[in-house]
Amino acid sequence: MADVTPTSSQEKSGRAKPAPKGKAEAKKPHTNGNSTDTTGLRTKTDRPLTSAGQEVELEANAKITSNEVCVYYGDKQALFDVNLDILGNQVTALIGPSGCGKSTYLRCLNRMNDVIDIARVTGDIIVDGIDIYDPEVDVVELRARVGMVFQKPNPFPKSIYENVAYGPRIHGLASSKNDMDEIVESSLKRAGLWKEVHDRLHEPGTGLSGGQQQRLCIARAIAISPSVILMDEPCSALDPIATAIVEELIEELRQNYTIVIVTHSMQQAARVSQRTAYFHLGYLVEYGETEQIFQAPSDERTQNYITGRIG
Ligand code: ADP
Repeated sequence: MADVTPTSSQEKSGRAKPAPKGKAEAKKPHTNGNSTDTTGLRTKTDRPLTSAGQEVELEANAKITSNEVCVYYGDKQALFDVNLDILGNQVTALIGPSGCGKSTYLRCLNRMNDVIDIARVTGDIIVDGIDIYDPEVDVVELRARVGMVFQKPNPFPKSIYENVAYGPRIHGLASSKNDMDEIVESSLKRAGLWKEVHDRLHEPGTGLSGGQQQRLCIARAIAISPSVILMDEPCSALDPIATAIVEELIEELRQNYTIVIVTHSMQQAARVSQRTAYFHLGYLVEYGETEQIFQAPSDERTQNYITGRIG
């Protein structure tokens, strides 16, 4: 269809810029009237709205700023005008009914949607002052800065050591074997796995339990020194004990990293996050402090979701 055919620059970046013909063209970018300075932070005081029309609290220390983000799969629109400021060193939970666009939004944050042929992204996402959809941005570097942990633990069929060393090696982060040993050890320590594996580093990563494998994947993400870690339902394949360990780890990690987590568990969102964004049918309906979202949501749809009336 004409309105979704990517131009060559879109093919490269997975994103339409300027807006392509069709639906996206009808929409003016930055309709909230805010502008960004060179640090990527908004410079006007107008408050942006969620895609569902509610005011978003502007934050001076936003780590990630999303402006009018839309995602299309072919001619089907999956996300509508998402405006969202994600704060540094906090855990932000993305919640909402299945199919509401949580994973789609998460994948926008490190351009994982680029790998889906029919996906097209419009709007701006600024991470640490950088427009990550700028065609000049090196996507491999971006994904090192904005790491990702998936739903199902997916260690490489290599040793525990090699799973962690792989990223630093391809990014040239270690200049000697000693350097690499240190990176591997400190990453496994940060992921809370060192004590359990230090005497079997050369055994296969796939031989670990599910919870240990997920912490190995977190160690692998940490090893390349990201500043943001995206987690897509990281505990959904884990038992309650392994889940509790990973949740504790998330709390520790936020001292050093900004974490965005998709979860279908409201209890988990309440336990691990400081901020929560509620999505519904592709719209960001409400965003705020987790306590407020769960105790005094301002939108009826959020209220219905957290009380179990929809979902
Ligand atoms: P959630 O994470 O909230 O369950 P998703 O982001 O996975 O929601 O999906 C949002 C919408 O986008 C759904 O309608 C889903 O079917 C559609 N979608 C997601 N991924 C793809 C894809 N790769 N191709 C086509 N449609 C997709």
